[in-house]
Amino acid sequence: MYRNFRIVPNIIFGRGCFNQLDQILDKRRTSQNDRVMFVLDEVFKGRPLEGRLPVRGRDMILHVNVDDEPKTSYIDELTARIKDASGLPAAVVGIGGGSAMDIAKAVSLMLTNPGSSADYQGWDLIENPAVYHIAVPTLSGTGAEVSRTAILTGPEKKLGINSDYTLYDQMVLDPELVAGAPKEQWFYTGMDCYIHDVESLQGTYINEFSRAFGEKSLELCHQVFLEDHEDHADKLMMASYFGGMSIAYSQVGACHALSYGLSYVLGIHHGIGCCIAFDYLDEIYPEGVETFRKMMDRHQITLPRDLTRGLPEEKMELMVTTALNLVPLWENCLGPDWQNLMTRDRAMDLYKKM
Ligand code: NAD
Ligand code: ZN
Repeated sequence: MYRNFRIVPNIIFGRGCFNQLDQILDKRRTSQNDRVMFVLDEVFKGRPLEGRLPVRGRDMILHVNVDDEPKTSYIDELTARIKDASGLPAAVVGIGGGSAMDIAKAVSLMLTNPGSSADYQGWDLIENPAVYHIAVPTLSGTGAEVSRTAILTGPEKKLGINSDYTLYDQMVLDPELVAGAPKEQWFYTGMDCYIHDVESLQGTYINEFSRAFGEKSLELCHQVFLEDHEDHADKLMMASYFGGMSIAYSQVGACHALSYGLSYVLGIHHGIGCCIAFDYLDEIYPEGVETFRKMMDRHQITLPRDLTRGLPEEKMELMVTTALNLVPLWENCLGPDWQNLMTRDRAMDLYKKM
């Protein structure tokens, strides 16, 4: 069976296109009572970008904290706050990196679906369409702007709300917005994209659709991280989009599976977690890892080490279980025989090196 998948229907791209957000929102404002909810990464509080938001009438800005990756409890709290304050908004705009974009996705879904966001962690559990939602990335790499998931850490698991309704209705891709990102963060989130490409292209699920997007994204990543280009921000923004499109029709692999374990047990964020894991995956992705190390050298990035030293046995076991539960990722990476190739012992050895 082939997957019949939905994509984000409206895209605006280019330097300064953020200024057109007002016009885009105008179409959603059908009555005077309609309000827009801006879900803004609180890093922008009081910064020029906040002043540029096209806030009208009864609109609200919801500053969101992304010190921790989004939790289901936080989504439930934000959803309740919006419902109390205003009822259903006409549109939700998520402005920030993958975390703020995922928060906005999850909130726009939970405004129209009853219960807790934890009830919907999984595949196609959402029943009602979301509030119209718009992505405005301020970091490039995760592909959250194009994906059909909002990744959440819940009481029992780290798993996305995967559904066609999760997808954004519109994305506003303005490369100028990533300008202020700290260099390390820019690198880690950019590597998320690079690793999406490597894992998609090297995986057993690869097909011409995913290859077409993955190869272009990889080429752009090479230009961004190994060459000098004035328009590197434009390139990385498109790489993120294409990388997201590539994995949408294939899958990620070993690195993402291992990074989920790091994240669930140690709270390590996605981008840096992927970098930490990838650095130990020479056996699986030899060329990809060699190039990754060149990119790290060129940008003078050093990764934290010895993260698992002294960790209690049960935490190590939980990390292995978390990673190995991600069956499609391993199957994509190593094929149907993956369980014989990636045993618990081998996964444990990899974690012990980190
Ligand atoms: P992030 O959103 O967690 O942000 C990282 C840091 O950068 C934060 O401190 C943030 O405040 C700051 N920041 C963001 N933009 C900035 C800017 N322009 N200037 C200065 N600071 C800025 O980082 P990320 O790597 O983009 O996203 C990681 C998150 O995305 C994780 O929660 C992960 O689970 C999620 N994710 C989602 C998908 C998906 O398909 N939905 C895919 C991969 C990752
Ligand atoms: Zn990723």
